[in-house]
Amino acid sequence: MAKSYEITDHKYDVIVVGAGGAGLRATFGMAIAGLKTACITKVFPTRSHTVAAQGGISAALGNMAEDHWEWHMYDTVKGADWLGDQDAIEYMCREAVPSVVELEHYGVPFSRTDEGKIYQRPFGGHMRNFGEAPVQRACAAADRTGHAILHTLYQQSLKHHAEFYVEYVALDLIMGDDGTCEGVVAWNLDDGTIHVFRGHIIALATGGYGRAYFSCTSAHTCTGDGNAMIARAGLPLQDQEFVQFHPTGMYGSGCLITEGARGEGGYLTNSEGARFMERYAPTAKDLASRDVVSRSMTVEIREGRGIGDERDHIHLHLEHLGADLLHERLPGITESARIFAGVDATQEPIPVLPTVHYNMGGIPTNHMTQALNPTVNDPDAIAPGLMAIGECACASVHGANRLGTNSLLDLVVFGRAASIKARELIVPGKPLRPFRTGCADKALDRFDRLRHSKGGTPTAEIRLNLQRLMQNDAAVFRTSEVLQDGCRKIEEVWAQMEDICIADRSMIWNSDLVESLELENLMINAKATIYSAEARHESRGAHAHEDHPNRDDDIWMKHTLAWVDDKGKTRLDYRPVHTYTLTDEVEYIEPKPRIY
Ligand SMILES: Cc1cc2nc3c(=O)[nH]c(=O)nc-3n(C[C@H](O)[C@H](O)[C@H](O)COP(=O)(O)OP(=O)(O)OC[C@H]3O[C@@H](n4cnc5c(N)ncnc54)[C@H](O)[C@@H]3O)c2cc1C
Repeated sequence: MAKSYEITDHKYDVIVVGAGGAGLRATFGMAIAGLKTACITKVFPTRSHTVAAQGGISAALGNMAEDHWEWHMYDTVKGADWLGDQDAIEYMCREAVPSVVELEHYGVPFSRTDEGKIYQRPFGGHMRNFGEAPVQRACAAADRTGHAILHTLYQQSLKHHAEFYVEYVALDLIMGDDGTCEGVVAWNLDDGTIHVFRGHIIALATGGYGRAYFSCTSAHTCTGDGNAMIARAGLPLQDQEFVQFHPTGMYGSGCLITEGARGEGGYLTNSEGARFMERYAPTAKDLASRDVVSRSMTVEIREGRGIGDERDHIHLHLEHLGADLLHERLPGITESARIFAGVDATQEPIPVLPTVHYNMGGIPTNHMTQALNPTVNDPDAIAPGLMAIGECACASVHGANRLGTNSLLDLVVFGRAASIKARELIVPGKPLRPFRTGCADKALDRFDRLRHSKGGTPTAEIRLNLQRLMQNDAAVFRTSEVLQDGCRKIEEVWAQMEDICIADRSMIWNSDLVESLELENLMINAKATIYSAEARHESRGAHAHEDHPNRDDDIWMKHTLAWVDDKGKTRLDYRPVHTYTLTDEVEYIEPKPRIY
């Protein structure tokens, strides 16, 4: 069947898949280096999820008070609960300073101090002098930092003649017999044509997979496509059990409601109207740390005290604060509640749910973004021809828990690192391997199987089953029993894919087919997540295991690797965490308890 597709062949030095902050920073860096660069993206570049980032991007510029990248490194290692690779963390925090200054020179309209320097605001976990007191390290362009960065990088990419293929869905990687990645197969939504993009390097920058969960703050496009392509190429995913939850995502839409709402006096109640946080955190109550609040809400729901027909959410009350205060201090939240939950927050509570916010795990890479194919003898072995950057990658700088504003930084530092490495590896214009007839067959067989499936279950129904399962069984709060049950149930949901029904066979703007391709990708990510979580018998960062409440460095200070094969069979192994630094400017930071 697959042979019936006509294929358009494209040749470049480098192919970047994804046009979020990570993809654009890499694309433009490679184009400046004189490499012929194509960027493929399923949505228009400036619609990538990066556009939604508000808070800021961290760098120890020291514009507000004394700060040093070594302090930033310490905070990141501690935030990561000692699962991060310290060589990569050192690289990120040191390179943060020139990377952010460069961004400013490229045109990002940062907010300013009175002296005209980049304005920096305080953020959780950013401290001075190795954990002593808060420091202002988050560089901000008002509350639309991601928006400002994304637009600037897109304009720079155009200026330097990178070529964009917009609304092309990348389907799968093309792997040579020797394990080298040679290209990527993509489907052009606009005219239904199939394309093969070949290059010396394929850099994946496809973002996170928040949509594997029922409630997430990320865009509908965050379906972990790059991670799934890696799994289908026989390569492993790393540390996918680490998923960051924010306590107050809006029920249904998942839109983020800032912690500031509780800071202003908002509080949470269950179906009995009780302010349950008083029981879990008698002192800090509703302002306890994110993981504590998220876990307490989940307990209430599991014990049947959730709100609504499904008893699956919690109420956030702001109405007692009065309309004047809400309009003055929380206008954005009030507006979002009206638009996305149909709720007038000045009169009634907002339905909320602990909401998936970020994926710490992903495609394992070294600190120069080269994807890894770890073996028993060489846990740092490189997968030739492949790079990964941004939320889809696991360098690993965020370890078990990401610090706020370190993701935008990750995109920019590692997008830049990818272009530096590509410059070293490739001579512009060097001939590619010859086109192999049939190289796209495997990808197109999968595409065809879905396109012509004649089952009886709509994509949306299977997706909802997956999302509810992940929300309930691979949540903030985990036990062996729940995780084992989740592993069993995910096999059932996986089996439902056999009966998927695609209503439309069209090749042009067939969104049903796009969503079913994305659903297969979500499934693979979900499997890697829940199986990796079930196996990790400790609590570290975002992985809070009730039966194993302590961090266990002797056994578990190691990265999980998960392989998910075409049949969905999941296999796990581990590789050591890097316990060394890149240079002798800093020393390895020894593990200690994580107390704030
Ligand atoms: C609401 C919200 C607020 C946040 N606030 C902050 C903050 O203040 N500070 C901070 O540091 N972090 C923040 N984060 C996290 C941070 O914004 C994200 O981790 C980051 O933007 C991800 O960037 P990315 O480039 O990796 O991917 P994305 O921006 O998600 O882009 C992915 C790209 O890949 C493309 N793509 C995906 N699949 C395919 C495919 N199959 N074919 C072709 N193209 C494909 C998409 O079209 C898109 O261009 C926030 C996240 C959210 C959700």
